[in-house]
Order: sequence, then C-alpha cells, then structure tokens
Amino acid sequence: MTYDLVVSGGTVVTASDRFEADIAVDDGTIAAIGDHDSFEADTVVPADGNYVLPGAIDPHTHHGIYNSLADDANTESRSDLVGGVTTIGNFFRRPGSYPEIMDDYFEVAEANYRHDYFFSLGLLSFEHVEEIPTIVDELGITTFKWYMNYKYAASEKFGVDCEMRDDFGNAFIETLAEQEAPTTLGYHSENVEITNALAGGNPYVETESDADAASADYGTLVEEFPDYAEAQSLVAGASLAKQHDYDDSFYAVHVSAGRTADELAALQDAGYGVTGETCTHYLTLTAEECDDRMKVNPPVRGPEDRETLWERVADGTISCIGTDHCANETEDKLGETIRDSQLGFPSTGTMLPLILSEGVDEGRIDLERAVAVTSTNTARAWNLYPKKGAIRVGSDADLAVVDLDETKTVTPELLQSAGDYSIYEGRDVTGWPTHTIAGGEVAYEDGDVLAEPGSGTHVDRPI
Ligand SMILES: [Zn+2]
Repeated sequence: MTYDLVVSGGTVVTASDRFEADIAVDDGTIAAIGDHDSFEADTVVPADGNYVLPGAIDPHTHHGIYNSLADDANTESRSDLVGGVTTIGNFFRRPGSYPEIMDDYFEVAEANYRHDYFFSLGLLSFEHVEEIPTIVDELGITTFKWYMNYKYAASEKFGVDCEMRDDFGNAFIETLAEQEAPTTLGYHSENVEITNALAGGNPYVETESDADAASADYGTLVEEFPDYAEAQSLVAGASLAKQHDYDDSFYAVHVSAGRTADELAALQDAGYGVTGETCTHYLTLTAEECDDRMKVNPPVRGPEDRETLWERVADGTISCIGTDHCANETEDKLGETIRDSQLGFPSTGTMLPLILSEGVDEGRIDLERAVAVTSTNTARAWNLYPKKGAIRVGSDADLAVVDLDETKTVTPELLQSAGDYSIYEGRDVTGWPTHTIAGGEVAYEDGDVLAEPGSGTHVDRPI
C-alpha cells in the first residue's frame, strides 16, 4: 500500500530505546514502523543521519494572557513547531463559569492552533471547584491548576469572591479525589505568607506602590522569593493531596530551587505520588546573568540550584520539562523598573533545542532521557498517553526529526513568536529540528512553518 507519509532513514528514539527504522503514517496516526526503505508513501521526509523523536509537549504555557487567545494560538503554535513542539497545555484562567464561557474559547482555539493543544483550567473560586464534575464530563478537560501565589490576591486580581486560602485548596483536592476520570492537579508552590512579608506587600496586587522600586533588581526578586518558601509549600500541598487519597497526578509546576527538588525526592522516597516539572530557564540561566527581561515567578536562582536541577532531571526525580511560556513584546514586558515589568517571556520554541544542547550535547542526560522529560513523561502526567508521547502504531503522528549537530544562534526571527525578544538571544544552541510532523503532516521544514492556523485540535480527555 501507499502511505500518506513516511519518515525515512532515521534513528527512532523513545524514552527507553533507540533503533533504526522508518515510520509510516496514515490518516494522522502512526500506521507502521519497519526497516529502512520498506514503505511507499506520497510524502517522504528524509531523516538520514538524524534522530526521530516523539513530538515535544510543553504542558505549561499561558496563551491568551497578554494577547487574545486567537492571536497567541496562531503565532505561538507557529513558534512551537520551529522547536519541535507538537502539543501544548494552556494554563487558562478566567473568573466566569467555565461550562458557560469555554465554548467561545474552544471556537477561537480550534480556528487558530497549528498543532494539537489541551486546556488546563486555573480554578479561582469555590464556584469553580463545584464545576469540576461538569468540566470533566462536558468539556474534555481533566487537568487543573492551583495557584498558591494568588492566595489573598484573587479577589482584587480576578474579581472573584474568594481569596484562595487553604480551605479553597482543600475543597479543590477533595473534589478532584472524588472524580472517576484520571485528573491532574498542577500546583504552584509558594508560601505567600513568607514571600509577601519579604516583599513588603503583595506583589500580585501592589506592584507600583513599592517604595524601593528604583533600587530593586533581579537579586531582589530572588531574596523576596527564597527557595525555602517554595520547598515548604510543595510539601504542604503534597501532604494535603495525600490526606485526601488523591493519587492521580499531583504535579509540581516550575520547580526552581535545588532545595525543592530535594524535597520532591524525599516525598517520592516516602511513597508520595508527586510529579515534578522544571522549566528550561532554571536549567540554563543563573540569577547573575538575568535582567528585567527574565522576570518570572519563581525567579531564576544560583548555579548550585541549576546543577541540582540537572541532577534531579537525570536521576528521575524531575520527570517533565515545561516553559511557563507567554508572548509579550519588549515595550510591554519592560517597565520603568523591574517592579513594574511583566512576568514571563516567550520560551516554548527553545525548549527542546536547549534540552538537546545543554542536556544531551553537554553530557548531562542521554537522548532517551531527553525524550522522556520533553514528551513521554509529560504525556503520562497530563493524561495524553499513548495518543501523545509515544512512537508506536496507533499513536498520533507527531514527530520531531532532529539534527543533533546543527548549531543555530537564537534570534527572535528564528523563533517566529509574537514576542519580539528571546531571553536566549545570541546564545548558540546545538540540536534543532529539521522537520516537525504534526497530525501526520509536515508542519515545519528547514526554517519554514507549513502548518496553517486551524490544523490542530483540542485533545479531549480522558483519551
Ligand atoms: Zn505558569
């Protein structure tokens, strides 16, 4: 038979194995895996001398936060494909009733994403907690986020009648534990009693009133959000999940500190089912080299933290990589001072290349581990596996063909995000996709994004 597409001549890499094979694709899914040159196809993607990985998954993005969801879905999925990312999770939060408001967002998302995506909803009130069963049953969304950082800020920031105290979190976890479908709780670890006191106020609602704004710099952010405030909050959240026998997927987002990664290891050793994520910026930057462009919460920390995080990625404690991506432009990102600069920066497009470059090329992890943390484990943690995150017959044909020897210097133009800057601008990165296949189509090829807006779809779960 003639297949739609074949990826030919490459070395296939999974989370546990690598082997020489061609991959045949039909109707958007992997139809056969066999010897080189054993398949006929309408489209042949050459992978000779290169590696074929399951498409990367960035579970931690914020699309629709600084721009409309329609714009972000279009431009940021374009950038994702440049970097071999074929599925993203959007941490989406709005104050209204999700069953009532999500239809409109699904509509613009379906029209604009160039690869598959899934929503994870940030719950902001007790009303949202009550909606969990309906969200799971009717919206195909099984993944949620609890923002510890918005405790005491939610009513002013979002206009909800809730301060997101621990009684809210308690109800949140208790309700998730009652659901039959497998769910995921993304948890932002932060003890705001500590961080707000160190900041002299609540930075989520009082940014501009800070008297010391002019003298604050990146080091100030690190001092006001110490590692122990993250580490302690992780343990508290994990314990609450355990008290309610919530054993689906308690997922610590953006672990930034070595101490937190060590606490994660201790929890896992003690039998807690806690999954840990770190972000590429915590693995590839130190606070000393950061300026206002790298403002993010939690902040980038010291070189010891960076190396501990790499060790924890290698030893299995940290099992997923995300980015906390958001698309802002320099003139909006940078305020007069770091206090009134925006949080977050564009970074999904560099996720996989940085892991290949500073993880694999520099010998910190092997290629199989890179596949695990950028795709397979992520698919498992977010209820997408084996539709996503796997190279096997029946899985979606989402693939990244990567040349591990290719070095590119990062520029905003290369990345094709709406963000007009990259925090990695000027950095030489070794290991880039030559082709990205999304939904069985060639979505990116040698610098050109070919996928059109609307070619992706929501991954309804449970799958
Ligand atoms: Zn985030």
